[in-house]
Amino acid sequence: MADKKTLLRSIPKMDELLKNEAFTELDKIYGSKMVLECSRKILDSLRKDILEEKISEFDNDTIINNIKCELSSETSVNLRRVINATGIVLHTNLGRAVIGKKVAENVFNAVSGYSNLEYNIEEGKRGSRHDHARKLLTKLCGTEDAMVVNNNAAAIMLALGAMAKNKEVVVSRGELVEIGGSFRVPEIMELSGNILKEVGTTNKTHPDDYVNAISENTGAFLKVHTSNFKIMGFTEEVDLDTLCKLGHENNLPVIYDLGGGALMDLEQFGIHDEPNVPKLLESGVDILTFSGDKLLGGPQAGIIVGKKKYIDLMKKHPLARAVRVDKFTLSMLCETLKCYLDPEIAVRDVPTISMIAQNIDDLTAKCKKFMKLIENDIECVADRDFGQVGGGSVPTQMIESAVCRITDSRIKADKLERILRIGTPSIIARISKDNVLLDVRTIDESEFPIVADALLKAFDIKEK
Ligand SMILES: *Cc1c(COP(=O)(O)O)cnc(C)c1O
Repeated sequence: MADKKTLLRSIPKMDELLKNEAFTELDKIYGSKMVLECSRKILDSLRKDILEEKISEFDNDTIINNIKCELSSETSVNLRRVINATGIVLHTNLGRAVIGKKVAENVFNAVSGYSNLEYNIEEGKRGSRHDHARKLLTKLCGTEDAMVVNNNAAAIMLALGAMAKNKEVVVSRGELVEIGGSFRVPEIMELSGNILKEVGTTNKTHPDDYVNAISENTGAFLKVHTSNFKIMGFTEEVDLDTLCKLGHENNLPVIYDLGGGALMDLEQFGIHDEPNVPKLLESGVDILTFSGDKLLGGPQAGIIVGKKKYIDLMKKHPLARAVRVDKFTLSMLCETLKCYLDPEIAVRDVPTISMIAQNIDDLTAKCKKFMKLIENDIECVADRDFGQVGGGSVPTQMIESAVCRITDSRIKADKLERILRIGTPSIIARISKDNVLLDVRTIDESEFPIVADALLKAFDIKEK
């Protein structure tokens, strides 16, 4: 074993080390400044390890390898792809809606060069960024006008601020919800300069409650979709049709915060009680707002549809600039909306809809296909369990799904769940009755080999 002094002396000098041909390539990828910085760091830590007698030998290849690892970790992007094996289609913590490949490719085309974001090509002069989504949204929803902002929270703030500033907005006590984070209806209303006028009770609100609340200072009726909970039992709410009729009889606009915002009928896939946007607009509601990254399956965005005279007010409102969307979002949203021109294309190309559309037979077959990759080496069974649409939509509805239940007792469930989670890529699974469950609804078939590999590695079985 070499002594400390000899080891220290054999650490390569920086300029000699950099002569190694490996650095030509590294310089090209990372730039010479970054390469130098990381090399210095590796040599310093090597020196320290020798002094602390942590290592007794090394060679140049190891040093170069360590530099490569350092460069790769220093320049890696922390926001990365994970595999969702939870069966929750719209998982807020996992980025809500997944964007389809075709949509993403078209977006790349639109944003990797200049675009007509605010340019009217026909007329050769300044255009409006609102025009792009407006055309598709008015067509798909059957409405007069549309506008897109950053998210649904911003959409509601803008609608309330533009339509009823300094005025009372009437809301049912059964709909004063908190959606998550700090989005609470009463607080939003305060921020947008409205006066909250609560009516009814937690479980029951009648049409008269709204009418009796009207004063000279009333600005609008607001209805909020209780998208993350359901009050059961002795309940009554005023439906949208009735509320619109009451509002219009009293010359008051009606705003509906829908949250989820499906553009097509999801009943056909067994999702009940989730009204779709075109149908809701038949009520004559003045303004309806919903999210782009929930049931629509697009990017984070707040979509406002309804009457032109109110949307014109919103476009002119000072807040509009602060909550406006960028070209990535607009392009991604328009590409997603385009899919809905033909429902069959939406089922094929919008992953959120494809995942919801898989029926239990498809899912069982999919699960068996996955299990073929591991069942010779790992004990597991095909089982049924319940997943969710998630993302604050369809609150009480669980959707039946096929899961691969890992019954192999060589690794405890909580340990296996962790191994999968901290691996690369991360696989997020859930535990039920002391078994790890992999719900195949939210795993793409192209991800099967990765998941199988991670499991085989976890059980220390050589990759095949
Ligand atoms: C999700 C949701 C919101 C918030 O929408 P974001 O797009 O996340 O801002 C607001 N209201 C309702 C009813 C919702 O379900």
